[in-house]
Amino acid sequence: MSADGQTLFSQIPSVDTLLRDTAFQPLLETYGAPLVTQCLRVLQQQARDAIQQSQSLPAWCDAWAQAAEAQLAQGQRDALRPVFNLTGTVLHTNLGRALLAEEAIDACAAAMRHAVTLEYDLDGAGRGHRDRAIADRLCELTGAEDACIVNNNAAAVLLMLAALATGKEVVVSRGELVEIGGSFRIPDVMRQAGCTLREVGTTNRTHLKDYRAALTEHTGLLMKVHTSNYAIQGFTAAVSEEELVALGREQGIPVITDLGSGSLVDMTQYGLPAEPMPQKLIAAGADLVSFSGDKLLGGPQAGIIVGKRHLIEKLQQHPLKRALRVGKMTLAALDATLRLYQQPAKLSAHLPALRHLTRAPQAIQVTAERLLPALIARYGERFDIRVEPCLSQIGSGSLPVDRLPGYALTLTPRNGRGGELESLAKAWRELPEPVIGRLSDGRLWLDLRCLDDEEGLLKELCQ
Ligand SMILES: *Cc1c(COP(=O)(O)O)cnc(C)c1O
Repeated sequence: MSADGQTLFSQIPSVDTLLRDTAFQPLLETYGAPLVTQCLRVLQQQARDAIQQSQSLPAWCDAWAQAAEAQLAQGQRDALRPVFNLTGTVLHTNLGRALLAEEAIDACAAAMRHAVTLEYDLDGAGRGHRDRAIADRLCELTGAEDACIVNNNAAAVLLMLAALATGKEVVVSRGELVEIGGSFRIPDVMRQAGCTLREVGTTNRTHLKDYRAALTEHTGLLMKVHTSNYAIQGFTAAVSEEELVALGREQGIPVITDLGSGSLVDMTQYGLPAEPMPQKLIAAGADLVSFSGDKLLGGPQAGIIVGKRHLIEKLQQHPLKRALRVGKMTLAALDATLRLYQQPAKLSAHLPALRHLTRAPQAIQVTAERLLPALIARYGERFDIRVEPCLSQIGSGSLPVDRLPGYALTLTPRNGRGGELESLAKAWRELPEPVIGRLSDGRLWLDLRCLDDEEGLLKELCQ
């Protein structure tokens, strides 16, 4: 390092010197000495790195307090930042899945603000369990005898297996050994629950006789898993819940189903792909059925189990239930969401997930045409911008083959270099309210199916 470099390094003030500066007083009062000190150490290192790289002090070194303030303010940003989901995937797991209905948001806020009857029975002195009131509503909606609510559907599956079949065998078709993105795999969950997986049939065909042949004195459960994120087509055979229930009844073995998403209403009435309904499985005699709160149901993250009272009782009393239970915010939001299902006429207008899924292509096209001129004015020189038809996805374990026709704004770089596109996508991810699109076919696609705040989007992109 040159003598010049050494001089530059010596111009980085010590933390003590800086903290004594009156300019730091307001920061110390707001954030406290430990956090401000930590921030200054980071800034000092940034200054040293800059000297190493460019033999000069960065410009911000003229105003350390200002630089520290900016850094500290940056650190105060919400860890979970609202974004515009223009990916074209409605229930996007990485973006938090279902948006909640205003009714659910209000109910959740009220539960946070006030003491609530979480485990308190207003009619008597008794202490009810926390799922009670919502379990009653789930029974009304599904025809089940009772219900249990846990952290997510993965927890629901774990609890069902652990409470009913630890140390026993669970019979599952080879066609249903599902992996859901990330780390949920049926064989692994079985192991965690202390169950032995007893695979039957083949990938494409499983028959009732396969289940029957697998039964032994060690069999604890017959299980079906909805193949939510893949389809087995061609020469296939699967055993229906009805047939499996009949076998279970005959042998005295409970039959459980992991439905994944599930839907409390018939999706085909909205022109959407059919999704299995928990109430149908309950009517078919299934002993327990589990599904997610934040997939097609359109509520908060939760795992919902409905079914026979004596089995739900076992789940409620299992030690894992305490570890997997949900808090009052989730229960309040879930209850308000379920109440919307009791007023079906309101449903598609009030549930954002359903509203987005059922948005008419023409309405999305009109939105796109309306936004187009402003985008052309701002980005038209660098990009060819158009309104183009596209296909959105439901997401979150709904069949990837089921696509919803809609419209997107597409941006194609005029100079034909891919780097342009990457840097635009990156710049939009760094906006105060990031705009998340999808890169494909050499274009950036802004699928407008989930756009609710047109003005807000224009403000982010065009100001
Ligand atoms: C999504 C899914 C799960 C996991 O549900 P989470 O609510 O994400 O925990 C489990 N099984 C199936 C079949 C699913 O589709």
